[in-house]
Amino acid sequence: MLCIGLLVCPICTIAAIYLTHSHWDHIADARELKHETNAPLFIHPDDEYRLEEPMSHTIWQLPFTIESVTADYYLHHGDQIRCGEWNFSVCHTPGHTEGGVCFIDKLHSVAIVGDSLFAGSVGRTDLPGGNTDVLIESIANHLLTLPDNIVFFAGHGEISTIGDERMFNPFLLGINTL
Ligand SMILES: [Zn+2]
Repeated sequence: MLCIGLLVCPICTIAAIYLTHSHWDHIADARELKHETNAPLFIHPDDEYRLEEPMSHTIWQLPFTIESVTADYYLHHGDQIRCGEWNFSVCHTPGHTEGGVCFIDKLHSVAIVGDSLFAGSVGRTDLPGGNTDVLIESIANHLLTLPDNIVFFAGHGEISTIGDERMFNPFLLGINTL
């Protein structure tokens, strides 16, 4: 959910920083963003450990350093995040990482799914903490059970809908939902 870079809107106030998970490409600017905005940072407790030592938890030789950042609060399954008209439910969807979460607003038919689900694909599970069976179970139980018209924004790639992924995503064909 975290944007890379610090293009802070001059007419908006960033009140909180919610992380879908703690892979380096989703937390690289978290420390700076938190410092610039004084906004509290939220993450699921199972993904907190990468915040503390980000460089030791990436398998790549990055040409820059990612500094540690401290979580202020934890996200738990079922928590509610209210932001103006928006009311997102926190949904724990492990598999891509242990503490990956999605943010779902059924009233507005919108979900923010991090790297759990992509248009035409699913999150990779070959990195430490990943588990293919767990990810597919998370998607089946928590995302494919949503209405078809839910539009979702993933951490990478195109915007899609739950209905399109249910119909056409090759990784999800034949999955029975609850
Ligand atoms: Zn990731």
